[in-house]
Amino acid sequence: MITAAPAHAPQKAVLTLPADRWQAHWRQAIRVPSELLAELGLVPEDVGVSAEALAQFPMRVPRGFVARMRHGDPADPLLRQVLPINEEMQVVPGFSFDAVGDSQAKKATGVIQKYQGRALLVATGSCAIHCRYCFRRHFDYAEENAAKGGWQEALAAIAADTSIDEVILSGGDPLSLATSKLAELTDALAAIGHVKRLRIHSRLPVVLPERVDEDLLRWLGTVPWPVAFVIHANHANEFDASVDAAMARLRGTGAQLLNQAVLLRGVNDDLATLAELSERSFAAGVLPYYLHQLDRVQGVAHFEISDERALSLHAGLMARLSGYLVPKLVREIAGDTSKRPMQGPGYELASA
Ligand SMILES: *Cc1c(COP(=O)(O)O)cnc(C)c1O
Ligand code: SF4
Repeated sequence: MITAAPAHAPQKAVLTLPADRWQAHWRQAIRVPSELLAELGLVPEDVGVSAEALAQFPMRVPRGFVARMRHGDPADPLLRQVLPINEEMQVVPGFSFDAVGDSQAKKATGVIQKYQGRALLVATGSCAIHCRYCFRRHFDYAEENAAKGGWQEALAAIAADTSIDEVILSGGDPLSLATSKLAELTDALAAIGHVKRLRIHSRLPVVLPERVDEDLLRWLGTVPWPVAFVIHANHANEFDASVDAAMARLRGTGAQLLNQAVLLRGVNDDLATLAELSERSFAAGVLPYYLHQLDRVQGVAHFEISDERALSLHAGLMARLSGYLVPKLVREIAGDTSKRPMQGPGYELASA
């Protein structure tokens, strides 16, 4: 609604029109390492910034996420997740370009099905933040997203397979898309009777909580299925009051909030940090879901911890926390019928 502004209205009110708010935050992300470091009172020599790594996978960090980093700390766990550094250029045997077998599991353009009943839509290749440990650093999603052409190919693939009862919006980050684009999909999905659940995998409520706006909430409140909303936070410091507010608003739609985290050396590979992550997530209304052992793609080896260490950390969490605060420790193995739990029968240490 546009109303004539009174003569004394401050200029600012005109510059922050609500319809464009999250997109404005998106555009203001920091993309230059020296600028990010200057914000934190650091210089590139403190941290071994790599121009080559930057060229391979551009840096992108929303300013609100930067604000949660510790000033003057080159080892800050949030900074480490986003800064392109020399270690990424090490070529390490056993680290490939398609570690999780996505290219084999393609069902249609942008539709990946690896597990019974669940179709995963690569809704877009865009993310608000670029996480250095992510397998998507090597993926060209330009042609591979399910939203292209009004979702038609994805919708046809889902409609044709009555065994699919859950649709997972993933990416990239599906909330990079305009809410109207998401509504276009769910409106069409509503006509497919065998779809019973909607799942959204998004890091945006954590890294750009402004994305959880009225439009998004209205859309989530009207989809005809129960919704599982899987966020992604690796460290308790990723939560602040703005993130808490976004989670409360999401929960208000009735969505079940879950967190998946990745075990990352130098970020969260100690017991106290992981315990705090679970407790902090729960305080924000989010249950721990998965703790992933890293996907082994080129450029991320410096983040890896051994399986023995991962198992020992997980055992430590079990000994310390309420059962519902302990995420499942899993690794993704190409060709498996589920994420592979890293303990109990059937799991063999993959360190050989
Ligand atoms: C991880 C993943 C899922 C979801 O698995 P859950 O164990 O149900 O969380 C679904 N499809 C693909 C392709 C995945 O990689
Ligand atoms: S897909 Fe998720 S983990 Fe990967 S860069 Fe995007 S937000 Fe980060």
